Amino acid sequence: MTINTTAFEAAKNVLVGGVNSPVRAYNAVGGDPVFMKSGSGPYVMAENNDRYIDYVLSYGPLLAGHANETVIADLHNAIIKGTTFGAPTIKETSLAETIRSFFPSMDKIRFVNSGTEATMSAIRLSRAVTKRDIIVKFEGCYHGHVDSLLVAAGSGGLTLGKPTSDGIPEAITNQTRVLRYNDVDQLTAFFQAEGNQVAAIIMEPVCGNMGVILPSMEFLNACRNLTNSHGALLIFDEVMTGFRAHKNGVQGMYDVIPDITCLGKVIGGGLPCAAYGGSRQIMDHLAPIGNVYQAGTLSGNPLAVTAGLAMMQLIKDFDVYDKAETQTTTLVSGLNEMIKQQQLPITINAVGTMFTVFFHKGPLHNLNDVSQCDMEMFKNYFHFMKSNGIIIPPSQYEANFVSSEHNDEVIETTLRTFKRFIDQMY
Ligand code: PLP
Repeated sequence: MTINTTAFEAAKNVLVGGVNSPVRAYNAVGGDPVFMKSGSGPYVMAENNDRYIDYVLSYGPLLAGHANETVIADLHNAIIKGTTFGAPTIKETSLAETIRSFFPSMDKIRFVNSGTEATMSAIRLSRAVTKRDIIVKFEGCYHGHVDSLLVAAGSGGLTLGKPTSDGIPEAITNQTRVLRYNDVDQLTAFFQAEGNQVAAIIMEPVCGNMGVILPSMEFLNACRNLTNSHGALLIFDEVMTGFRAHKNGVQGMYDVIPDITCLGKVIGGGLPCAAYGGSRQIMDHLAPIGNVYQAGTLSGNPLAVTAGLAMMQLIKDFDVYDKAETQTTTLVSGLNEMIKQQQLPITINAVGTMFTVFFHKGPLHNLNDVSQCDMEMFKNYFHFMKSNGIIIPPSQYEANFVSSEHNDEVIETTLRTFKRFIDQMY
């Protein structure tokens, strides 16, 4: 047995499915997940010493690549002073101030440990502020494993929510309405009928969780205007897009400003840190000022905050975002050139430092479009890239991520490998 097979067999004995997050299992593509032991810059190293160019980047956080020297040095200095105090630290204020300088709509911020906690808390807050219960989400958007948000649309879309996970009471899901992404007519009709009962729309303003799907400007504006005119709040879940789609988030890029923003991934610099924030008026509903309870033993802990601050510094002082964005543009234009030349049924959607290669002639605007991709071809693509030293997320429904460490050589290798793949397949 190979090292990897042994590791997976042992893991399956004690960990459910051998993994601690379902997407890490290779259910959609088949085969065993690769066990990693280290990372450096754009590369991850497997237990059997195979080295891969990494476009997973832990699903987004590693904007400056693996084991960034600044992050590691700052973490080293922090860890020898203690790991958690259960008391405020000055660094939490610094991180909040820095985040606010990029996201001015987050006038006040609360740190939590995961994106799921951020969205769950934002939902509770929106219900308390509006004194309403109904939440609107869009098909294909993922907001973490919050009970009320683990709901997918039936084909009717506007029907009552149907849980995608067992174990969620109907009493919870029937407070969630699921609509189609980018469908302004459906959204408008829904708000005409039920808008006055809506606490909030929660959305990925650029969706990364059905692969990268861009919103139309009309759709984003409709979400903003309809919530405004019906006394509901707009929550942008920028857990993935914050510091990934744009330094100032999708809200900065399109100038559509939400009431509450959720962040995660990049703001923790590779450690567990997430946040939600908005105007003073909204955020002051939270305890200890207001009556909305939300707390966390390790929230804002010194290690996660140190890594987050180091990452913010890298973005501010060393242009890591801009470098990663430039490399993404080079990669995506190179891929697009090959696709166009051979007129292949492949579409690449990209924004900032994220992209998805869809095996579909395009354009793709919503979950229904993505579900029509050639999933067999995706599987071939995944395994071809992997066997040629490039690791990508094991599902068509995921974004790929680029770091500032993905240098020209890495991009060229990726382009050459993609060329070999299409030459073999088409
Ligand atoms: N929101 C979005 C947009 C995400 O992409 C994710 C995770 O991928 C989450 C929320 C949940 O974050 P976490 O996995 O940190 O709980």
